[in-house]
Amino acid sequence: MSENYKDHIDKDDKDKYEDICYICRRPESKAGKMVHLPGNVCICADCMQKTFDTINKNGSPYGDMMNFNPAMMGFSMQQDIPNSQKLKKKKTEEKKQEKPVLDIKKIPAPHIIKGELDEFVIGQDYAKKVISVAVYNHYKRVAGGINDDVEIEKSNMLMLGPTGSGKTYLVKTLARLLNVPLAITDATSLTEAGYIGDDVESVISKLLAAADNDVERAEHGIVFIDEIDKIAKKRNTNSRDVSGESVQQGLLKLLEGSDVEVPVGATSKNAMVPLTTVNTKNILFICGGAFPDLDKIIRNRLNKSASIGFSADLKDKYDQDPKILEKVSVEDLREFGMIPEFLGRLPIVFTLEGMTKEMLVKILCEPKNAIIRQYQKLLALDEVDLRFDDSALEAIAEKALEKRTGARALRAIIEEFMLDIMYEIPKDDNIGKVTITRDYIEHRGAPLIEMRGINKPSLITQNQQA
Ligand code: ADP
Repeated sequence: MSENYKDHIDKDDKDKYEDICYICRRPESKAGKMVHLPGNVCICADCMQKTFDTINKNGSPYGDMMNFNPAMMGFSMQQDIPNSQKLKKKKTEEKKQEKPVLDIKKIPAPHIIKGELDEFVIGQDYAKKVISVAVYNHYKRVAGGINDDVEIEKSNMLMLGPTGSGKTYLVKTLARLLNVPLAITDATSLTEAGYIGDDVESVISKLLAAADNDVERAEHGIVFIDEIDKIAKKRNTNSRDVSGESVQQGLLKLLEGSDVEVPVGATSKNAMVPLTTVNTKNILFICGGAFPDLDKIIRNRLNKSASIGFSADLKDKYDQDPKILEKVSVEDLREFGMIPEFLGRLPIVFTLEGMTKEMLVKILCEPKNAIIRQYQKLLALDEVDLRFDDSALEAIAEKALEKRTGARALRAIIEEFMLDIMYEIPKDDNIGKVTITRDYIEHRGAPLIEMRGINKPSLITQNQQA
């Protein structure tokens, strides 16, 4: 092989691998462009700068660094780093910049925000209205900067609502529409700093990670803390309450707005990870929880006040009220175990409704990404038309209501009976249309199957369903 040809191959090979800085050992993708020195030595711009800084600081142009010899650090100047120790260059793909539906810099009016939410979130009109106004005010406050005369208060929110009513979904949809980073944390995993578990500042680390380590983006993000009712003050306890009241205390300064030092690329601080400072002043905090038994506290209060004085009412007036949670007051929450300082930093409190049959039916088919639409699309790829008749949708909703987990139950129920359909239908190319009926959902019959052109009896027998 000619020398020239070999050189050519070597060069080609080298092009596929990243250069590595001789001093800090970071690859080109992390450290940026390298300066090439004789003897195949590459030094990144940072290390180069540091070297010059050191020389300048020492005052002598021939300070220690001029005597720097990589051989002292264990490598020889002449030796090239083998490719096995280098990182392969990433194919530089142009990252698609997602255009947000709603731009936080030119934040649209609340009714437009609500209109966008309506396309995905069914019902919960009051909650959507409150959240739209709060988000509008929050980002207007952020965009307006610091006003000398009137400081607008932060619009942190507390969301109450039974499980599966769409608390997380609402926040996720909002963050997606605004294209702001979102961190979701479970309050149950948080403990007072120094105890086993995540300390409260870990939520900001998560947000930073969600913002691709872009501090500025993270500072405009949303933090959702779920299961907030689980950090209520424990009653009648003698031991230190490291996962309840102390967590509420710990969250105070985050909610209010403060500089938090967080590790980059990790959730716990240690010597090996760099730290950065994130200011939480413009981060929107939304807390959510089901608050079981809060209804009893509200009912007690209402019954007490209803039975006193001239306006005395029937004592059990509120016993059957399904919307009792909407009548919540700060005192009720305090009695539940939330500390007043914590509640003071969540000025907006609102309630999501429990799911009704009608809402569940709508959730099945109306949102842009409804579960049924997803299945219809899957089968449409096989050129099969999937239909659900109205009674089938009602049957699914009734089954979901029985499970008492709100809209969360829907997917599990649908997946259970769609398994057979998704398995059997692709077997026969002649099937053109499948209609799911109440009988099929209730295991009393088979779905209606129509062949392309002619009607034939169902392929899926009752045995297969069972
Ligand atoms: P939780 O209130 O317990 O946080 P989630 O938000 O996790 O409930 O809801 C579970 C799932 O139910 C969501 O992923 C979403 O698909 C569906 N869902 C719940 N509420 C609604 C709603 N109002 N509109 C549309 N889908 C909903």
